Parts: sequence; C-alpha cells; structure tokens
Amino acid sequence: MGTINISKKYTAKEKAYIPAILVGLKITMKHFIKGFFFRHHNTVMYPEVKRDYSDRFRGKHFISVDANKTENCTACYLCETICPAECIHIVADEREEENNPYGVKKEKKPVSFDIDALRCCFCGFCEEACPKDAIKLSGNYEMAVSARQDAIYDLDLLKRDMNGRKEKTEVKK
Ligand code: SF4
Ligand code: SF4
Repeated sequence: MGTINISKKYTAKEKAYIPAILVGLKITMKHFIKGFFFRHHNTVMYPEVKRDYSDRFRGKHFISVDANKTENCTACYLCETICPAECIHIVADEREEENNPYGVKKEKKPVSFDIDALRCCFCGFCEEACPKDAIKLSGNYEMAVSARQDAIYDLDLLKRDMNGRKEKTEVKK
C-alpha cells in the first residue's frame, strides 16, 4: 500500500511567525479601538440588556386562552401526533358544558398537557398543526433551568407563559 506524504515545506516567512502574529494583533487592536473609543460592541450586557429577536424566532411554548382564561386547546392530539420529538403528552377529558367556550356539548379539554422542552427541537410543527391556534412558540428564549423536571412545561405554566410575540399573545375571542 502506498503512503501519502502530507508534510509541508514552510517558507522562511511562515517559520518566523511574526507576520501572522502582527496580522492577528492588528485585528485585535481594530476591535479594541472600536469598542473602547467608539463604544461599538457586538455583545450586550445580558441579562441587564436583552436583544430583540426576529419575529420569526421560535422560543418557549405557550397555550393561548380566551377572555375567561380557558385554554383554546380542545385536546385533539394533532400537535402530539405531529411532534417529531414525541415530547408532547396530553390527557383529554370532556369539557363541562358550563365552562365550554365553544357552546358545543362534549367538547374535549386537556386534563394535562405536558411538553418536555429538553426533547423539543423547536421545529414549530405543533403550532402549524393546531386547528385552534392554541399552542404557540413565543419569542421567549430564557429557558435555562436548574433541574430536569423544570424543563417539563405543564398546562398551568403554558397558559401563564404568554410573553411572546405581540400578535401571538392576543386573547382569542
Ligand atoms: S416545536 Fe416541534 S419538537 Fe417542539 S413540541 Fe412542537 S412539534 Fe414537538
Ligand atoms: S394544542 Fe392544538 S393541536 Fe394540540 S391538542 Fe390542543 S387543539 Fe389540538
């Protein structure tokens, strides 16, 4: 079997390293001067300063509610079925008639609705599949938790967590 010689012959300039170091220093000084004298920073002082993300950003989920704070979800399972990460788990039951925002007897409701954010890949399929515009992905990117169980969003948290994009937080009539 033949061998490939990958050793490279360096020029005297390359062996000296000085030109490459000077080029690197020039770039460093350029950024230092821009930041120190002209206050041009590419970073922000998070968490005191927060960036505005694109309106298309897909962050933490929430479930929209109607004027009575009843979730718009009818537990149809479409989001759970389409989810490629299998991280949505819904338990459904019949919705009591007096608390039924749709005026339809036997409309379903989620008894529990859990999303495992550690499995979620934020593809947005659940949002697209939902026929009731109930499940949404907000602009909230602050999802750090200190325990694994805190990354499982339950129905109460999903209904409460509506700090997302403006058009996504409007209360459904
Ligand atoms: S964003 Fe995608 S992966 Fe996450 S819960 Fe929705 S469908 Fe599943
Ligand atoms: S969130 Fe939407 S798609 Fe998911 S179960 Fe509820 S109504 Fe169906």
